[in-house]
Amino acid sequence: MEYQGKQVFARYGIEISPGDVATSADEAVAVAGRVGYPVVVKAQVHTGGRGKAGGVKLAADAEEARLHAANILGLDIKGHVVKVLWVEHASDITEEYYASFTLDRSAKKHLGMLSASGGVEIESVAATDPDAIARVWVDPTIGLTPDMARTWVSAARLNPAATEGAVQILQTLYRCYVDGDCDLAEINPLILTPGGEVKALDAKVSLDVSASFRHPEWDAFAGTEDFDERERLARDKALQYVGLDGTVGIIANGAGLAMSTVDVVSQVGGTPANFLDIGGGASAEVMAAALEVIESDEKVQAIFINIFGGITRGEEVANGIVQALSRFTPSSPIVIRLDGTNAEEGRRILEPHLSDRVVSRPTMLEAARTAVTLAGVAGSSA
Ligand code: GDP
Ligand code: MN
Repeated sequence: MEYQGKQVFARYGIEISPGDVATSADEAVAVAGRVGYPVVVKAQVHTGGRGKAGGVKLAADAEEARLHAANILGLDIKGHVVKVLWVEHASDITEEYYASFTLDRSAKKHLGMLSASGGVEIESVAATDPDAIARVWVDPTIGLTPDMARTWVSAARLNPAATEGAVQILQTLYRCYVDGDCDLAEINPLILTPGGEVKALDAKVSLDVSASFRHPEWDAFAGTEDFDERERLARDKALQYVGLDGTVGIIANGAGLAMSTVDVVSQVGGTPANFLDIGGGASAEVMAAALEVIESDEKVQAIFINIFGGITRGEEVANGIVQALSRFTPSSPIVIRLDGTNAEEGRRILEPHLSDRVVSRPTMLEAARTAVTLAGVAGSSA
């Protein structure tokens, strides 16, 4: 959550506003008194877009702080109920920017992104105006040199008054990202104040769990993840599940295949509802559990089962699917793509169970197209 990201930022010297967490309106007012009015009262949930959802409010005095705190606590933001607030001294904003570092695996470098169009979701900037994002690829053995930072900042065409501050904070963000073992360190908005200060108003950090052995300070974050209902259900059934916002439910065996399936569904114009990896086996139990998790998401309009038989052979997979469907009838149409070891045999087993609600396609691409079409049809009739 933001306040945890800000703890990480503060540790590495990134400038943030003074603030603290609060779990009640009384506490929020107490924090506001300490940091000084005006304040901003902010919902702490594991999702972005809080501003748009009414989860970020400015307060000029104690009365307003109490009102906003009371309203925001308990608010449901994209399925996350607000239980914690962050209250900080409010900043005056001249401009809002976006800045982040992530790993670009294919380039084997760190990727820095900087945009003068911050504050809004970067995906929409990337979609409508990709040139508005200045990118820099940083060789990890060299790091982000001051010269590189300067060139990068000028490419982003920020307000000239922000140049110095941006160069400084981006180098600090890079150190935070590298030394702090982050997979992602994002500031949105990074702001320029009327006084010429450049600082972080929001923080989004994702930590590389394989580095946790060298970060005892991360223990403080344990147990604060709030899984949504589907994630909890999946965890209980030992399935790897990541919830997304689309309409095509995806079941695949192996994380690599699940990710490619998400990509292919997007490529053919669909929107994945999740990423569900059932792992090596595809028994009836596992398949039924996976279908049940997907079924609990009302946004799902079609289910795409993409299985590549390896050690688990095609006929076992097919039997698993058939048995799962005999126990449990999902309300969405299902598209199955079965390939790999004994796929032919598997498809023969599926054959008698196919209908206009359960279809089989030989390739991943065709299956994805069919699933997206079915999701569209189901979606428009709903
Ligand atoms: P998000 O919507 O979840 O990304 O939440 P943010 O922390 O990014 O806040 C959303 C928006 O609220 C920002 O883009 C700002 O426009 C506004 N905001 C946040 N903090 C302040 C503040 O201290 N002062 C002012 N004036 N606006 C703020
Ligand atoms: Mn933000």
